[in-house]
Amino acid sequence: MILDTPAPIETHPLRLDDVPVPAPAADEVLIRVHACGVCRTDLHVIEGDLAVRRAPIIPGHQVVGVVEALGAAVTELAVGERVGVAWLHRTCGCCSFCTSHRENLCDTPQFTGWTVQGGFAECLVAPASFTYPLPDGFTDLQAAPLLCAGIIGYRCLRKTGIDDWAGARLGLYGFGAAGHVAIQIARARGAEVYVCTRDRDKHQALAEELGATWTGGTTEAPPVLLDAGIIFAPAGEIVPPALSHLDKGGTLVLGGIHMSAVPTFPYELLYHERVVCSVANNTREDGHAFLKEAAEVPVCTHIETFPLEDANTALDRLQHDGIRGAAVLTV
Ligand SMILES: [Zn+2]
Ligand SMILES: [Zn+2]
Repeated sequence: MILDTPAPIETHPLRLDDVPVPAPAADEVLIRVHACGVCRTDLHVIEGDLAVRRAPIIPGHQVVGVVEALGAAVTELAVGERVGVAWLHRTCGCCSFCTSHRENLCDTPQFTGWTVQGGFAECLVAPASFTYPLPDGFTDLQAAPLLCAGIIGYRCLRKTGIDDWAGARLGLYGFGAAGHVAIQIARARGAEVYVCTRDRDKHQALAEELGATWTGGTTEAPPVLLDAGIIFAPAGEIVPPALSHLDKGGTLVLGGIHMSAVPTFPYELLYHERVVCSVANNTREDGHAFLKEAAEVPVCTHIETFPLEDANTALDRLQHDGIRGAAVLTV
């Protein structure tokens, strides 16, 4: 499914076409795609919220598939192995960020489905060192949303600064693919989770099913002050109310790659050492640690599946808040 030019998803800008099977470079593998998750970042690429970095582009960065061919220098993977591919496609390995355990902030990164061809396809190539062997407990379809929604949600949990999770009070704002995985990790660690999101029947109901202590509207105040909050919704106007829900010293983590403008707010909302921080991409260490913990919990993803050729429909549904849990394309 190929995007030529960014356009509103309502116009169904992805087109189905045949392209040559890519050849893996020396350090890459060719992967036969079985499933690919649909992420809000795909919408940002398709609608032009993120600048065009390659055109035409095949979006998709939550890929589950099987290694079909190895580049000449690849020794760590074997043909037939099941792997996942995530958003961070490759880093330079030598900038000041890469050499200080912050490869998520690399100066010259490549991103799957934005700067290089992604997984809304039958095949893709990826560096062997940036693929993730997947735990056996997950089917291909269930594993797909773990590769961005899951990993980024995990990094958001890490950035809350909470060390002692037992009894910690965590707020989640927006409850889509990332939220529905993050709550399962946080609950398994012993946290109380307060979920602020729209749609009583779809999102709030799923949050309650997954163990939320309380659910309410997007900016509704939870009944207690929170140790930390994570905003998954791409809406900057949630920042001031979410700050007002934090206890002293609490952290508000912004999980999206793109967000509408954050309105001005009184300094009192930030005072008492409250912190606002964003999350950019993930390190490979985040990915491996998350997949291990997700298998231990075990996380159960709630998915809606669509055939690859219905990618436009799946994205349109995501844009209009119509997905319960995560959308996954089957290939
Ligand atoms: Zn770098
Ligand atoms: Zn994503």
